[in-house]
Amino acid sequence: MLLSAKKLPTVSRYLIGAGLALFALMLQIGVAAIVGNRIPFLLFIPSVALAAAVLGTGPAAIVLLTGFLYGCSLFPLDTLHAGSFRDQLSLGLFVVVGVFFIYVGGKMRAMVNRALDAELALLNEKLARERADDERLRQLYQQVRSSEERYRNLFDSMDQGFCVIDVIFNDAGVAVDYRVLEMNPAGIAIYGLGDVVDKTIKEVVPHIGSYWIDTYAKVALTGRPVRFENQAQSSGRWFEGYATRVGDADSRKVALLFTDVSVRKENEARLRRLAADLSEVDRRKTEFLAVLAHELRNPLAPIRSGLDILKLSGSNPQMVERMRDMMDRQVTHMVRLVDDLLDIARINGGKIDLKKERVSLQSVMSAAVEANAPLIESARHRLYVVMPDESVEVTVDPTRMVQVLGNLLNNAAKYTPAGGRIDLSAVRDGDQIVISVEDNGVGIPEASLPFIFDMFNQVGRNMDLSHGGLGIGLSLVKRLVELHDGSIGVTSGGTHSGGSIFTIRLPLSAPLQADALPAAGVAAPLRTDTFKILVVDDNADAAQTLASLLEFKGHSIRVANDGVEALEVVEDWIPEVGLIDIGMPNLNGYELAQALRKNPALDHMALVALTGWGAETDRAMSKEAGFVEHLTKPVDFDAIEAVLDRLGKPTPRYPTAPTSASRN
Ligand code: ADP
Repeated sequence: MLLSAKKLPTVSRYLIGAGLALFALMLQIGVAAIVGNRIPFLLFIPSVALAAAVLGTGPAAIVLLTGFLYGCSLFPLDTLHAGSFRDQLSLGLFVVVGVFFIYVGGKMRAMVNRALDAELALLNEKLARERADDERLRQLYQQVRSSEERYRNLFDSMDQGFCVIDVIFNDAGVAVDYRVLEMNPAGIAIYGLGDVVDKTIKEVVPHIGSYWIDTYAKVALTGRPVRFENQAQSSGRWFEGYATRVGDADSRKVALLFTDVSVRKENEARLRRLAADLSEVDRRKTEFLAVLAHELRNPLAPIRSGLDILKLSGSNPQMVERMRDMMDRQVTHMVRLVDDLLDIARINGGKIDLKKERVSLQSVMSAAVEANAPLIESARHRLYVVMPDESVEVTVDPTRMVQVLGNLLNNAAKYTPAGGRIDLSAVRDGDQIVISVEDNGVGIPEASLPFIFDMFNQVGRNMDLSHGGLGIGLSLVKRLVELHDGSIGVTSGGTHSGGSIFTIRLPLSAPLQADALPAAGVAAPLRTDTFKILVVDDNADAAQTLASLLEFKGHSIRVANDGVEALEVVEDWIPEVGLIDIGMPNLNGYELAQALRKNPALDHMALVALTGWGAETDRAMSKEAGFVEHLTKPVDFDAIEAVLDRLGKPTPRYPTAPTSASRN
């Protein structure tokens, strides 16, 4: 009440004071009517005190004045100064007491007001504090809410699995299970066990491996986080993750961040296998180099001895013939090794060019037998050949197919002890032809069969190198057969002379219309012409040997050991044929050919390239440079003779060459 009175405006306080004065006056008049005017200020004194205490000095003065006037009204004014002393005393006392009350009331009111102000200030302060607390709480609530939202967003949208689990221990303190308290959608997807939230893991995977429970229990007990990577026995999948305890030391809750790394693990395993395979290939290559060195030295030794013998024996014709035959055999063997190597390199580099044509299978088989007859005969093997009765045609590169069959026959002869049996047969099977090469030789161990067509693979190579081979023949055969859309397989009766059977399947050519069949082969007439030939090779020995052979055949020869020398030779000697090596210093074969073509005097000169490179692109380059023939080294003398046979004389060799035409 005091508080509210203090707050009242001044006018209201005065009005209330006047009202109080009026009220006290009325009451006093009423009291006077009952008990007379013996106590005329009875009600005014407390009213003054009340007004002074509550309403302030001014309103209290109004009450006092009202009482004083009331007192005066009791004592006629004219008698007041002459009234009884008691009346005057009474009036005076009333005024004194009233003033005293006003004074004391004023003081009290001031005190009360101060106390009230202090209390009010305290209340305000408290209120402000509470408001600040409220605001802080509100902000905290907001922060918690947005943090909760962030957590939820992260929880729901992360692509790693996240869950919180509660590890369950038995009475003996041993971890036996865990309950999933929460898990994000990615986690549920990665787990792949449906909704596991609120379930224990053993309810979902009864035979879960102890690794998981033990790992999480350790984290819960020690508080030390762990990274883990392990395979789930139940699903075979690999998981990688991070586990950390949530809460204080008493907490048994563990938060898990995990992801399925099965694909990565598979890739790692594949890479490891690949690395192992690569090192196996590397090992085989290293072995292969040793074998290669050995195999190349093998024929070189008898050739060198043969040369020594030739020097010593002079012109003993029998000895010369024997040595020549021996050298021919050894060189043929070396050429075959080098050819195989080149072929493998070409196939690996995708540079092999098959010149497929429609040929009779019988002719291919005969050529292969013919090529291997000396080896088969020298080992006294019996060879049985069974060909289809009717003519069978295949669309193959005949040279390559002869090489394939020849290789198999060669192996059969090599890996069969002397006096063995070799069967070459071809039978028709629907629209395929099945060719098999069978021997009763040493056979192939079962364990080696799956790898027999791998490169550099030789069964028991380190035991016996005397067969002479590089371990690439079968690999080459397989690739060539596959390039012909065919397949090859092998069976063997084992290593106790069980022999081996290699079986090739090739697609047959579709039958031809009778009138489309080619006319019976017309043999090219053999030419007996002799030529003026310029031999250009930076390998002086090779150039000289070839020159000697050509001279022996009646040709007239000049030799140059590089392009510049060749250009000097043609200044005063016009050759008809140039046998030109391609890889030479200073001026290579292509450049020399271009230079020769610019000389109009040499328009009738036919250029033949002799090179180690025989891919289609190399042939195209030599044609572009002006060569009419392209022979790959090592060149067989028969091949050179065949080229010379093909060259007629004196037909112009470059009738359409723009450079020579412009010179004319
Ligand atoms: P190379 O004969 O040069 O060693 P190949 O690739 O032709 O290489 O053969 C690989 C290996 O396969 C040979 O070293 C040999 O051990 C085995 N092999 C091939 N053909 C036969 C066969 N007819 N009989 C027994 N073993 C064979």
